[in-house]
Amino acid sequence: MPIPHGAPTDAHIELCELRSAHNYHPLPVVLARGEGAWVTDVEGRRYLDCLAGYSALNFGHGHPRLIARAERQLATLTLTSRAFFSDQLGPFAEALGDLTGKEMVLPMNTGAEAVETALKVARKWGYQVKGVPENRARIIVMEGNFHGRTTTIISFSDDKVARDEFGPYTPGFVSVSYGDAAALREAIDEDTVAVLLEPIQGEGGVLIPPAGYLREVRQICDANGVLMLADEVQSGLARTGRTFACDHEDVVPDIYILGKALGGGIIPVSAIAADRDVLGVITPGSHGSTFGGNPLACAIAHEVVDMLATGEFQERARILGARLQAGLEPLVGHGLRAVRIRGLWAGLDLDPDGPSGRVLCESLIAHGILAKDTHGATIRLAPPLVVTEDDLDLLVNGIRGALAGFRRS
Ligand SMILES: *Cc1c(COP(=O)(O)O)cnc(C)c1O
Repeated sequence: MPIPHGAPTDAHIELCELRSAHNYHPLPVVLARGEGAWVTDVEGRRYLDCLAGYSALNFGHGHPRLIARAERQLATLTLTSRAFFSDQLGPFAEALGDLTGKEMVLPMNTGAEAVETALKVARKWGYQVKGVPENRARIIVMEGNFHGRTTTIISFSDDKVARDEFGPYTPGFVSVSYGDAAALREAIDEDTVAVLLEPIQGEGGVLIPPAGYLREVRQICDANGVLMLADEVQSGLARTGRTFACDHEDVVPDIYILGKALGGGIIPVSAIAADRDVLGVITPGSHGSTFGGNPLACAIAHEVVDMLATGEFQERARILGARLQAGLEPLVGHGLRAVRIRGLWAGLDLDPDGPSGRVLCESLIAHGILAKDTHGATIRLAPPLVVTEDDLDLLVNGIRGALAGFRRS
């Protein structure tokens, strides 16, 4: 262990290991407080949070504007179910519709639920609008995808751990190589209703497709009467320096799938946004969620949308991302094999003869930095967009120091 553990840390870890299922492999840090880009553990040690809840904390911990809005709504009305209207849903739907440029939204809670919603809408659209024969709809997905953890979603994952022994799997999905427009064109047939993709593959390691790819996907979908579903759950809402990662190629998908930061780091809020000719296929009783679109969620997410409407956070991601890039790129050849970065979102591939991602993240703890590896040899950095330039310098110095520690030993 890179840091000496006190009793509080060990006791919390032991209790969690004993009484909570082992569906994650957390770093040995027990957090108790968060403020902005920083968190504090049960022993008073502070860390720069460079995972930011997998981008759910784009606005940092406890953003005063979001907390104030949440507190006001907590004291007013939190839950109605969709059996009744609330005074929060309409204004939120209008605001998110305006941000996405779409006519309608359908709110849910988690990212996986929003993905499921988009898949259901695409299938129903395929039968009702495109005229695909019942039960024949095909949806094309990408190799290396990550869209969540439900049984249908893991059915088209190629991550063995996520998938194995959870079958039988949901049929109707075809996987093609990510970033390969020709492979996509080849895979489409008359029963294809949609293409589902992440404009940047986050869990895959912040994999950015070749320039022009998203535009080609858009053209292929248009030419074949197929819906383009963009999973912007992690890439969206200012992380990449634009409101949506699709904006980098001026591409507008038929359905935006949103989550994570939409809940302001306070509660789970997800949604899909689409025009009436697509989302109109949903009728009363055909889809729903007890908590989806609840007043507390709508109030917080509406505040998130208002904060994004100014462009301030997108600009921060661009400017700070450039600084992070300038700091990280000199490390290529000095412990890093490659750096991919878009906005304030980076994937660092480690040298194969150096430490594993896990081991490097453990040593970053001693430098006051929390980050997480993905797929073993890649570190994903996604600090809250409220980090300062000094914070980023500390991050770069910490990574340089941690890598150097392994090269000496
Ligand atoms: C995290 C994530 C999801 C799933 O979101 P949950 O809220 O964990 O269900 C879906 N798609 C992408 C791209 C994600 O990063």
